[in-house]
Amino acid sequence: MPTPTRSNTIDFDAAKLQRLGFAGKRRPSPKPVSLGELRRQLNLQLQTSLEAERILGLFFQEVQRLVPLDALCYQHSNDDLRIELGQRAPHSAAYRLSHDGQYLGDITFRRALRFDEGELAQLETLLSCLLFPLRNALLYREAVLSALRDPLTQTGNRIAMNQALQREVDIAKRSSQPLSVLMVDIDHFKRINDNYGHSVGDEALREVAGVLKASLRNIDMVFRYGGEEFLVLLSNTSSEVAAMVGERLRQAVHNLQVVFQGQALQMSISLGCATLQAGESVDGLQQRADQALYQAKRNGRNRLNLAS
Ligand code: GH3
Ligand code: MG
Ligand code: MG
Repeated sequence: MPTPTRSNTIDFDAAKLQRLGFAGKRRPSPKPVSLGELRRQLNLQLQTSLEAERILGLFFQEVQRLVPLDALCYQHSNDDLRIELGQRAPHSAAYRLSHDGQYLGDITFRRALRFDEGELAQLETLLSCLLFPLRNALLYREAVLSALRDPLTQTGNRIAMNQALQREVDIAKRSSQPLSVLMVDIDHFKRINDNYGHSVGDEALREVAGVLKASLRNIDMVFRYGGEEFLVLLSNTSSEVAAMVGERLRQAVHNLQVVFQGQALQMSISLGCATLQAGESVDGLQQRADQALYQAKRNGRNRLNLAS
């Protein structure tokens, strides 16, 4: 049997009209007392967190007192946010959430048993309890992310870098896993600014950052160290593998086609690669990567140099 999937757009303003009895078709829930009580409780409980994961976790747990569910999946398509709770099951009811024209994500309820009309009406009513908590959580998430992001290149900023370096060094020490860093510097970048202007320089920076991100695994982290320098953090990566990754980045930037007024800008990067040594601090690791980078520049640029 094909899986019957309901898909609706639920606008919270329309949902409110429905609750007030203006919606027409759908009959009110057969359990008005329970539904009302659950709504009151949800309205209180969902205010207790600004974390989308926590809010949806509470919602998933509490809604099941009225409508049994096997899974809840939430996704915000432009925000790279996906939360899956419970076990996958064949029947689903999907809703696009919006309020005042603002997209708030897509939510799918899943269950082994088909949903009946009464249950769907209850779910739709309960979804309205998510409105303000979810909107606040998305705003909070955006604020946290933008405080950690470099606006020009969309890589991590120095605050994010320092946090990640300390965290990864601690994990590497605790778990005896290797940790490597690549210090990346664009070669002769000043010439691009001088020859083509600062905005072309900015575009070139964005392009290089894009190539670095596209050439790495999801778990690898790229940070803008400053100016035209980036730091790549490679967790659980030995020095040999880090050198291979760095070489791949070098080639990818070398192959990059940045065209300005019909002229191709030839770009390259130099890299210093260092792997955490026993007892070494974050500063020590960074300094060795920096020295290795400096040596790569002295050796002629467009190359990778391993720290001693
Ligand atoms: P090297 O190969 O030795 O690294 O030479 P370089 O020219 O890349 O190095 P230098 O440190 O002399 O110059 C770095 C340049 O990067 C100078 C600075 O104006 C430019 N720069 C730093 N941040 C930005 C930025 O956000 N946008 C633009 N367009 N340029 C920037
Ligand atoms: Mg530099
Ligand atoms: Mg440079």
